[in-house]
Amino acid sequence: MHTPTTQARPSVYYSYQVHQPWLASQHPPQPRQRVVIVGSGPAGMVTALELARHGVPSVIVTAELQVSQGSRAIVFTRRSMEILQQVGVADRMTAHGLPWRFGNSFYRGQCVFRLEAPHDPDDRFFPMLNIQQQYMEEYLLDACDAHPLIEVRWGNKLTRVEQREGHVLAEIDTPEGPYTLETDWLVAADGGRSGIRAALNLQMEGASYEGFFVIADIKIDLPLPTERRAYFDPDWNRGNTILMHREPHGIWRVDYQLPPGESPEEALRPESLKARIDAQLAMIGFGGTPWEMDWSSVYSARTLTLPDYVHGNILFTGDAAHLLPIFGVRGANTAFQDAQSLGWQLAYVIRGWAGTSLLHNHSEERVGAAREIIEEAGKSTRFMAPPAGGFALLRDAVLSLSLTQDFVRPLYHWRTSRPHAYVHSRLNSPGDDDALFTAGPSHGAPPQNIRLAPNDYLLDHLGGGFELLYFTHAQAMPDDLMAIVQATRQTGVALRVIAIGADHPVRGADLHWADADGHLRERYGVAANGAAYLLRPDQHVCARWLTLDATRLQAALRAALPQ
Ligand SMILES: Cc1cc2nc3c(=O)[nH]c(=O)nc-3n(C[C@H](O)[C@H](O)[C@H](O)COP(=O)(O)OP(=O)(O)OC[C@H]3O[C@@H](n4cnc5c(N)ncnc54)[C@H](O)[C@@H]3O)c2cc1C
Repeated sequence: MHTPTTQARPSVYYSYQVHQPWLASQHPPQPRQRVVIVGSGPAGMVTALELARHGVPSVIVTAELQVSQGSRAIVFTRRSMEILQQVGVADRMTAHGLPWRFGNSFYRGQCVFRLEAPHDPDDRFFPMLNIQQQYMEEYLLDACDAHPLIEVRWGNKLTRVEQREGHVLAEIDTPEGPYTLETDWLVAADGGRSGIRAALNLQMEGASYEGFFVIADIKIDLPLPTERRAYFDPDWNRGNTILMHREPHGIWRVDYQLPPGESPEEALRPESLKARIDAQLAMIGFGGTPWEMDWSSVYSARTLTLPDYVHGNILFTGDAAHLLPIFGVRGANTAFQDAQSLGWQLAYVIRGWAGTSLLHNHSEERVGAAREIIEEAGKSTRFMAPPAGGFALLRDAVLSLSLTQDFVRPLYHWRTSRPHAYVHSRLNSPGDDDALFTAGPSHGAPPQNIRLAPNDYLLDHLGGGFELLYFTHAQAMPDDLMAIVQATRQTGVALRVIAIGADHPVRGADLHWADADGHLRERYGVAANGAAYLLRPDQHVCARWLTLDATRLQAALRAALPQ
């Protein structure tokens, strides 16, 4: 019998709500579900919200009765905010989070590198926003609870899973004992220690790095701006690295690397934590400032991914699919992109708008993203926590040279999580004009946001389904294009037409934007009427044309909706 704790988790700033367990005895017999999602972390909840946006119901089963223990992921990127905007929680994140865009690297008391993350006037969101994972999960949970197509079952732990012909049987344990759930599709969003991954005996590819980091959240009043602070090789922790981030509610995150040979248990002893945090505060000039511990944990850096996220009717997403180092804020930010991708592609297969090859496309796209992240995060990890030998030698040389030499300083660049462009996606249209454009988002990339008016941005309007951005001054959309649009809509697929360039309604278009100053055209590399972009439901570009005709639109839609 599964007995999740009913004690609210401790925290000095967050009040955990303990939810009631879902019990089968209080409900009618269970029908076969369309989608069961295992896990209510960011990957599980965003998958459910994305499925629901495309009309597909899901049941989330989750082992605990509360949201995440401790702050865990605290830094969210602009692309994550754009994804969260789609599922309706970006406003709450913005209202409560701390935006920032500068990162500092210190060595021997000197700031040797200061990075400014670009912030374009066309962007709605800051490059980074700090807020604790519990809040993010609470906002997602409220959105799930408010959606009639999503059911969340607290205190329901998956204990056994079995693939059958075309469906999956899951045994779910609860505080009153187990029950069986049958489902067409099962999404494994059960986190880094995925029991489903273990049950299927799936091997991950990649590397694990030596050494441990402590993460500690402390409540302290520090008069420092919201910027990332990295301290290399400080006197109190020679050879190692310390990171500091401001979080909302007077909390600071202090991450530090442990000396070789020290065990996580030793490192988490209260005396050990206190001595090191005091030493760090003293080094930055705040020795003696009172502070209180909220939460601490230990992690090690791993760069691992499953080579395929689709296994029959079981689909892996988030940390269950890959384990990424948190340098460069990879964990939750990657989980959002995974879930957004899985949500629409699974929905389109379930709704019958595409064949199951769309799921293999999803897997190829996201495994490609994980491999790219692993490549980049590996570089950061080798700089932050270098293995012995050449890597340590190189890092030490960069540190000492950086005190006097500008040319080595860019090596401190921390390579923050960024959206993956699906350059090699099967959904990109081979016969379009992608290669002929000189500006604008290309094949597989998410669109560059554009400020249309004060507090009105391009991405505010995109993402319900496919979108055709058509550049025209004419009174009406061409008939032959509209015939293709109508035929696509008749299959049930959402395809909106947005006319750009006319200051009057354009017959056939769902929306029109005048783009009076030509700014959108310029950023999208459009010089003449008749150009167009086709965007997928996750907003990524799958085709663009300098001159669109009906044949090429038809071909692009066929490529994007493989049968
Ligand atoms: C200690 C720690 C510190 C971290 N710090 C950072 C950080 O500083 N920055 C950063 O970017 N990322 C950090 N991460 C990573 C980040 O939290 C994850 O990448 C992110 O939460 C991944 O989301 P997910 O939904 O894939 O998995 P998770 O958030 O882990 O969610 C998994 C869900 O599955 C549920 N579950 C597990 N097994 C079962 C089962 N058998 N049945 C039912 N439910 C089950 C869990 O209860 C949970 O709800 C940290 C992670 C940990 C563990």
